[in-house]
Amino acid sequence: MSYLRTSALALMAASIAAPAFADEVNIYSYRQPELMAPLTDAFTAETGIDVNVVFLNKGMVERLQAEGDQSPADVVFTVDISRLAGVVDAGLTQPVQSESLMANIPSDLRDPDNHWFGVTTRARIVYASKDRVDPSEVTTYEDLADPKWEGRICTRSGTHAYMVALTSAHLHHYGEAATLDWLEGVKSNLARKPQGNDRAQVKAIWAGECDISLGNTYYMGKMLEDDEQQEWANSVNVLFPEFEGHGTHVNISGVAMTKASPNPENAVKLMEFLASPTAQEIYAAANYEYPVAPGTQAVDLVQSWGEFTADDVNLADIAALRPAAIRLTETVDYDG
Ligand code: FE
Repeated sequence: MSYLRTSALALMAASIAAPAFADEVNIYSYRQPELMAPLTDAFTAETGIDVNVVFLNKGMVERLQAEGDQSPADVVFTVDISRLAGVVDAGLTQPVQSESLMANIPSDLRDPDNHWFGVTTRARIVYASKDRVDPSEVTTYEDLADPKWEGRICTRSGTHAYMVALTSAHLHHYGEAATLDWLEGVKSNLARKPQGNDRAQVKAIWAGECDISLGNTYYMGKMLEDDEQQEWANSVNVLFPEFEGHGTHVNISGVAMTKASPNPENAVKLMEFLASPTAQEIYAAANYEYPVAPGTQAVDLVQSWGEFTADDVNLADIAALRPAAIRLTETVDYDG
């Protein structure tokens, strides 16, 4: 009897404290729904909480700002520290204190103030022609400015987020003067004006226009999935340059909880789920990325590209240097 009464009271309290639609959680995602589906389905199966994913191509900050307190979004999910930091810097997130997030995510891959959390990584590496480049020739990012690469490098625009993060990392390790020299050196080694995406650079290597390019690791997996692009992928090796003494540049896919989250408890549960070792491995496998939790492993194909030491700079430092990195990129007229 008393048990029943307690339950009834607890139930009443719950229904007063939480809105009627409380058994859901809403994600605003820059990541494709098909990458999210296996995870969101598993989360619902485990918790009974429905997950609604709104896929956005761009404009997440603007949308969250426009919606303000009325935003249905609980969690944002995106790639690249610059996009995560953009949402945080706009004051649209709130910190999450969670022991499991801290246990499953290395400290350099989450915000020191607990606003954003990385759940997978990708390395920014060199794609090198199998025919024209010996793997031992590529050792450091610094080396890409060496005149031996003159007319042999292809990259995308220097102001793309992936390039800006790499330049920010250079700036963090070596300072402004050295980074300016480096950007000038890399620019003077370009085979053509920066254009196209990471895969377009590998195509250019395949076509003989250049010998090495910069790109994210997972594109190797993506190209191998594609009948036309397979040939491009098979014409190159994946090589892991380092910032000397620091490691290979990595970036993240990650999550943050919105400031206006209408379902904050569910949001934390979802974030903890996404950062759990099992979910990291499922999600990393779907996009050829690296899970980050202790003891987790990338899929065999990704492992076959080689081992590397990731740069251990906190990505918050990289995000903070973004404006300076863009300014230096424009100073050398990298895309010109
Ligand atoms: Fe990408």
